[in-house]
Amino acid sequence: MKKLFVISGSSGVGKGTVIKAFLEKHPYFKLSVSCTTRKKREGEIDGVNYFFISQEEFDKCVKNDEFLEWAEFSGNKYGTKKSFVEDCFRNNEDLILEIDTKGALNVKKIMPDSVLIFIAPPSVEELEARLRGRHTETEDAIQRRLASIKLEMENSKHFDYIIINDKVEHAVKNLEEIIL
Ligand code: 5GP
Repeated sequence: MKKLFVISGSSGVGKGTVIKAFLEKHPYFKLSVSCTTRKKREGEIDGVNYFFISQEEFDKCVKNDEFLEWAEFSGNKYGTKKSFVEDCFRNNEDLILEIDTKGALNVKKIMPDSVLIFIAPPSVEELEARLRGRHTETEDAIQRRLASIKLEMENSKHFDYIIINDKVEHAVKNLEEIIL
């Protein structure tokens, strides 16, 4: 593997959109597919967005030490498989991980050469509006996600780069400048 980039951002910040736009322009970058116990959202595809697995399967992977890192987020578990990262090493590919800030800081400990990038909202109010506008979460889930924003912002202080996502085009350009 040439380089590992870890991208985090509060939920609803639009990091998925920014990463997708980047990958369309630079398709030779690989995006890691994580495992999660979260329910599939409409339009998501198993094996593409995530590997959607059961609690039991997830726990088995943890027990067998199959994850590079894993974290509990908003009541669900998410993990990056070691095998995914090792395959990229073998194939000499650049890899992007889209994971939460706790996971990102853990990866940095294991792989100090990795580059941590945080995508921040222009404002927390705007983020709340975006989260609600998505209509994919219950009120309870939205409240939990809002509560996690503070922690994510705090963790981002230890990141290598912070991108403010005021406009997608700007954020993508920023990301290109950092990565390329
Ligand atoms: P969502 O449910 O919105 O897809 O993701 C919720 C959070 O989990 C996001 O911050 C996302 O980046 C994070 N996440 C996704 N996959 C992983 C993973 O493999 N490990 C960790 N630590 N976080 C992840």
